[in-house]
Amino acid sequence: MAKRDYYEILGVSKTASDDEIKKAYRKLSKKYHPDINKADDAAERFKEVAEAYEILSDSQKRAAYDQYGHASTDPNFGAGYGGFGGGSGSGFGGFTGGFDDIFDTFFGGGGGRSRSYNAPRQGADLQYRVHLKFEEAIFGKEETVRYAREEECETCSGSGAKPGTEPKTCSKCHGSGAVQVERNTPFGRVMTQAVCDVCQGSGKEIVEKCETCHGNGHVEKEHSVNVTIPAGVEDGQQLRLAGQGEVGSNGGPYGDLYVIFSVEESDIFDRDGAEIYYVLPISFVQAAMGAEIEVPTVHGKVKLKIPAGTQTGTNFRLRGKGAPRLRGTGNGDQHVKVSIVTPKNLSDQQKEALHAFAEASGEQINGEESGFFNKVRDAFNFDSKGKKK
Ligand SMILES: [Zn+2]
Ligand SMILES: [Zn+2]
Repeated sequence: MAKRDYYEILGVSKTASDDEIKKAYRKLSKKYHPDINKADDAAERFKEVAEAYEILSDSQKRAAYDQYGHASTDPNFGAGYGGFGGGSGSGFGGFTGGFDDIFDTFFGGGGGRSRSYNAPRQGADLQYRVHLKFEEAIFGKEETVRYAREEECETCSGSGAKPGTEPKTCSKCHGSGAVQVERNTPFGRVMTQAVCDVCQGSGKEIVEKCETCHGNGHVEKEHSVNVTIPAGVEDGQQLRLAGQGEVGSNGGPYGDLYVIFSVEESDIFDRDGAEIYYVLPISFVQAAMGAEIEVPTVHGKVKLKIPAGTQTGTNFRLRGKGAPRLRGTGNGDQHVKVSIVTPKNLSDQQKEALHAFAEASGEQINGEESGFFNKVRDAFNFDSKGKKK
């Protein structure tokens, strides 16, 4: 499941004070406490709230989270690859403003939230999937990604008003962006706050609309950004690019872009983190007599010495021939597993040679019995009483 943004979980703004965070946590932990709340997802929500508070109440963890997102709470996270998310399990906070609105509608006026409707709000986060070939993920690359996003309208600088005119204060909410609504609830009639339907919470009413954006203050535009894909990324990992999401509202900052990597599988290699696995087929002659064999690696061919008498399934390690360690230094290894291939469709000459080999080893082939096993049986032939004949 996608991991939600900690600020959204607590329903506070990214600039919330420690006090606001504490208040929001107290309120929500009470609300979702499994002893009190019997809803199916209460325990899950309670855990989510606790986790969000644990990070946001610690100034160091909060700063890391602000910069790197959920990747910062990954236990394997280290400095060096900024903003890098771990594992395929980690999600991203791609929520738009919707949650806040719902929250406000139902829990508005609840004391803990000091944020008003017309306050600046960060724009929506976006996600972009980048497909990488097996080797591209190992060596990294530069890529320009292009996508459509809502940007501030240049004609009106985001105000939505026709140049030369000014938006006026909303006549319905008088600029607060919120209106009081009477609601029927199981506890009786209560007054709650809702977003003003005239100004949609901006507190401003546009008299003459900007012709470019029709009063929205933002327009959809194609946007491109250069992404440096670090060497060693894995399938499902993500990179957070701050400010590359959609335009904020009421002058709020842009949202973030989450670049998610899809890495193609290789026909010959398997990969687990920095370790690469390869199965090397060899002939039984090479296995028996030893050989020096060229083995493909992502770093080019490497000579591998197979000692005489190697059994099928034996593993060899080519140090440093794996993928770069994303959160460390150097490369992992390539693991080579030997698989002995039994020859098929033998030529007459090969058959002859193998007959000679079998003869020399005293082995039995195609029902013919050679002298060797008879000799062994004679040598170890015991009678039923355990005594040698
Ligand atoms: Zn405009
Ligand atoms: Zn209004």
